[in-house]
Amino acid sequence: SSVFSQIARAPEDPILGVTVAYNKDSDTSKLNLGVGAYRTEEGKPLVLNVVRQAEQKLVNDPSRVKEYLPIVGLADFNKGSAKLIFGADSPAIQENRVTTVQCLSGTGSLRVGGEFLAKHYYEKTVYIPSPTWGNHPKIFTLAGLSVKTYRYYDPATRGLDFQGLLEDLGNAPTGAIVLLHACAHNPTGVDPTLDQWEQIRKLMRSKGLLPFFDSAYQGFASGSLDADAQSVRMFVADGGECFAAQSYAKNMGLYGERVGALSIVCKTADVASRVESQLKLVIRPMYSSPPLHGASIVATILKDSNLYNEWTVELKAMADRIISMRKQLLEALQARGTPGDWTHIIKQIGMFTFTGLNAEQVAFMTREYHIYMTSDGLENQHGWSKFKDCTSSCGCYACCC
Ligand code: PLP
Repeated sequence: SSVFSQIARAPEDPILGVTVAYNKDSDTSKLNLGVGAYRTEEGKPLVLNVVRQAEQKLVNDPSRVKEYLPIVGLADFNKGSAKLIFGADSPAIQENRVTTVQCLSGTGSLRVGGEFLAKHYYEKTVYIPSPTWGNHPKIFTLAGLSVKTYRYYDPATRGLDFQGLLEDLGNAPTGAIVLLHACAHNPTGVDPTLDQWEQIRKLMRSKGLLPFFDSAYQGFASGSLDADAQSVRMFVADGGECFAAQSYAKNMGLYGERVGALSIVCKTADVASRVESQLKLVIRPMYSSPPLHGASIVATILKDSNLYNEWTVELKAMADRIISMRKQLLEALQARGTPGDWTHIIKQIGMFTFTGLNAEQVAFMTREYHIYMTSDGLENQHGWSKFKDCTSSCGCYACCC
């Protein structure tokens, strides 16, 4: 018998599980709303025109070789990524206080940052919002940090639980790490206002809490790269330290290329350079060095002002279409006299909507209309109350089940 015969079957990932069920459905009008990837009007994945152009440029360049990248990745990519998130004129970049390393998309950037902190930072607790992207608690726990949650979403208003957030961060131990979604919070679509961000910043700085931004949707929320980076830039402008994990999966449509960056803003250039030397020691035994292709695409676009401008136009078109789809959905629900208040659909930002449907209603949609969504109805999925069988520290369904 197999030496692995004792191994129990692991549960399906809650989101990927939706796709498995969807793939089995032979109905031609079926729709998969579980996947976090942009789709065209025809329901197909979209490759941006600028990405095609950048790839052409790369293919036609005979000087390009397939050598290993350095441990920290492609220099032009790293430079461009830091400018993109912190702003082209960021004093922190000019003062060489920022170290940026190319990582395996957003997930890999969070993981490298988490392992660095677990190894070198004195406070091992990271606070993540409740709810949050289901991978966050797993990434940080495996990185060696202890995960706690802060209140974020208020089901009564389908908005931000700002008082709860301030209270929980106010009660966090000095120095605790705080994971913040830079924009387009996943899965709620609820972001703090700039005023609220400023209050969060003040509170965090006064308590010495360490901000760790997860920026997976820059440009995708509002259509403006700068507007969507405002929260991060506020924290960098005060001169304090800050982590940022960037993903190009959504905003450049490079999902499968796994291209992202981790930046750490430090107080001095000397600290930044020592931090970078230690980041290399985290990366080297993990995957040695990052892949070349996706980072080359991004660097090509970021360096070429024509391609860059074209990218911003394509990005805005995606963001605007998402906003327009939200409007159309709301209007369609209202036109049919659907009971209840559905205005949260247009108030929420980014790719995800918390529909407010419960498990039974989602099952009905799937059974009757072949529309697939996360299993418990997005709103209930996180319980906003504890799930009885949940084993994760935050107690929400998505994080463990
Ligand atoms: N962070 C958040 C909040 C996300 O929603 C995602 C993707 O869905 C990611 C990070 C990272 O994705 P990737 O590793 O594909 O860049």
